[in-house]
Amino acid sequence: MIIHLKETVNTELAAQLAKQAQAQYFIREGQTILITSSSNKELPDFLREYTAEHFAMASDIQLASRTYQPATREVTINPGTSPAVATVEQAVKIGGSTNNTLMITGPCSIESWEQIVTCADMLKELGITTLRAGCFKPRTSPYSFQGLGMEGLKMLAQIREEYGFNIITEVRDATHVEAVIEHADIVQIGAKAMYDHGILRTCGEARKPVLLKRHFGATLQELVQAAEFVLSGGNEQVMLCERGIRTFETKTRFTLDLCGVSYLKEHINLPIILDTSHAMGYAYGVPDLTRACVAMGVDGLLIESHPNPKVAKSDAAQQLNLDEFRSLYRSVQSVAEAVGRKVV
Ligand code: PEP
Ligand code: MN
Repeated sequence: MIIHLKETVNTELAAQLAKQAQAQYFIREGQTILITSSSNKELPDFLREYTAEHFAMASDIQLASRTYQPATREVTINPGTSPAVATVEQAVKIGGSTNNTLMITGPCSIESWEQIVTCADMLKELGITTLRAGCFKPRTSPYSFQGLGMEGLKMLAQIREEYGFNIITEVRDATHVEAVIEHADIVQIGAKAMYDHGILRTCGEARKPVLLKRHFGATLQELVQAAEFVLSGGNEQVMLCERGIRTFETKTRFTLDLCGVSYLKEHINLPIILDTSHAMGYAYGVPDLTRACVAMGVDGLLIESHPNPKVAKSDAAQQLNLDEFRSLYRSVQSVAEAVGRKVV
């Protein structure tokens, strides 16, 4: 159950009431919101005099449900708080009343200064403002490239300064979650980290947008419940990312769950970002899949691109080279237009 306390309830009393109700709580514009298990269908008597409004919910998909808040939540990326020198418009909005589809691109991993500058130059040329690159890579083998870590994060911070881009980079584990929150404009929680409650709760305390990737073995219910950890911490800027789930099929790396995307669009109030690169696993399939996703009217796309994918230190097979990306980018414009969307 979601309970909006009256604005006259002070924070001390709110904390006491939350404890008594065994509720998570956060404060939204001066109003305390309590969230208890969805198995509670009746407002407890002791809360009655302090409650402005309450919502009995069908499952523990609560804050993210369109039953609670029908409109897609608006996410504002970098509302001008960064010290970056703007060469492009920095604040980008998706969801809400916008019809924006956010284009996120860049390499799987930042590998060198030269590599990331080449990528950044392409984004600038195309007028794309959101650059991705992983520094802390969640690799399946301990012997593979693990990412440049803090060194990579510092390079991304420098790119942000010089180009004014919004940076998205991933958190792999709790050792660097604060550093990523500090330097990124969007914090990416990787698929394998989706179940890490330490990361989810820390991101819940942050006030930066979070892109939460679906674990390849997670149901939609589990994905959205993971998002509820962040939302109930008071960070209401969460985007969900479908990046393919594991099925019996082995010809492609994962299976992009577009039925799941339809479910999310219908029932969930969080913007949805589609990562076709990790789903497909092979560059040849990425452009077609991406156009299909744009036609579904999604809120964003995440596409891996690299100056020379053949020598990429991670995810080499799936990254588009920069000319392939340019061509894909051109082709999505008309698809977006046909469904009333604007690629930003
Ligand atoms: C990535 O974005 O490079 C990545 C590792 O993705 P995922 O967490 O979806 O595997
Ligand atoms: Mn990758």
